[in-house]
Amino acid sequence: MHPGNFHPGAFPRGARHHFDLEFEAAGVPIQLPVLLIRGAAPGRTLVVTAAVHGDEYEGVRTILELASDLDPAVMTGDALLLPVVNPAAFWAGTRTSPLDGLNLARVFLGRPDGSPSEAIAYWLDQAIFPHSDLYVDLHSAGLHLMMPTLAGYYMADEPSRRAAFAFGAPVIWAHPDMPPGRTLSAIYARGKAGIYVEARGGARIHPEDLAIYRRGMFNLLRLLEILDGVPDAPPCRYHLLGGGNLDHSLVSSHDGFLLSEVRVLDRVTAGQNLGSVVNLHGECLQRIPAPTAGIVVLTREYPVVRAGDPLYFLTGLYEA
Ligand SMILES: [Zn+2]
Repeated sequence: MHPGNFHPGAFPRGARHHFDLEFEAAGVPIQLPVLLIRGAAPGRTLVVTAAVHGDEYEGVRTILELASDLDPAVMTGDALLLPVVNPAAFWAGTRTSPLDGLNLARVFLGRPDGSPSEAIAYWLDQAIFPHSDLYVDLHSAGLHLMMPTLAGYYMADEPSRRAAFAFGAPVIWAHPDMPPGRTLSAIYARGKAGIYVEARGGARIHPEDLAIYRRGMFNLLRLLEILDGVPDAPPCRYHLLGGGNLDHSLVSSHDGFLLSEVRVLDRVTAGQNLGSVVNLHGECLQRIPAPTAGIVVLTREYPVVRAGDPLYFLTGLYEA
């Protein structure tokens, strides 16, 4: 089905539907798998995407299992689930698309006549996001990095804050701004609520992370009253506050091997050395001192580094 012809209301209620949204971009055929669970009774719609980055798998598994476990007969409202929105990157096992080298999480609102990533962004924004009452973008740290298991939200939007807390992740990250180009900037531009989720990644799906993602999905379905009951969200252990633009990570200045001295959620002081990049004679090429005091929210775990690779990101604590 072409995304321009997708109308979830045209699908029968009380049933599961699966199909592909199909379109062409720069001569390349694109197929986005869609799992639409239509509740027996009308209500709100939870929209969930995964694999915006092709090397992040927790969300893919969460969606595939959720779609078969949900019972449409007891749902008041719908779940609109897209397990792999960046198929070329997914099949290549890469963060960015091998078709155009672009990061799908930087090209929203996209263009219908643009490159594959730009066209995917355009059609997600045009054909999927308008149906959302709450949007969740399931990420993780991917192949090379490590992040705490967290839900992130734009702090000016109260429904998004409520969703982040209802999800039930051990870490919640409030952002004072939302840089352009993201799925969430497109959602907020529509005046809609949304959050994103991160986890450890590393191309391995940790069972604890999978359990948190899965419980989070059920919690949000309850928050939207699509399912009966109230969210079962333990209090978060860390409420972080700060910009979430990982493009501003501390980066490697050289090709080399990373000797890390910190782990995610470590508290560091200004000037504390986070790690060193050495050459293959063991000589130090770069020390990476913390520019400020803060909490480590991203580390590079894949120790072979190229000049320009992100290594660390620091943020602060929310003091309410
Ligand atoms: Zn990601």
